[in-house]
Amino acid sequence: MRTFISDCQRATLLIERRADQQLPLAERVQLWAHLHLCAYCRRYAVQSPALARAARLTAQAPSTARLPSDFAAQLQRRLDEPS
Ligand SMILES: [Zn+2]
Repeated sequence: MRTFISDCQRATLLIERRADQQLPLAERVQLWAHLHLCAYCRRYAVQSPALARAARLTAQAPSTARLPSDFAAQLQRRLDEPS
């Protein structure tokens, strides 16, 4: 069982690495074999790129969040107070 968890850790690492670079053949085969047997990592392999895309889009989107003006003024006064 411990080996299985370790294999999942290695598989998720390989899934992340293959998003940035082509894996060597031996690692591609290991990952393929693990994904063939492990539904959790198969799901991770599908969801991980979608999460990365969503995070990238969120980081690129301009922020529209604004503090209420009275709260911003109160916060600025507190920051300006000597400690
Ligand atoms: Zn796994």
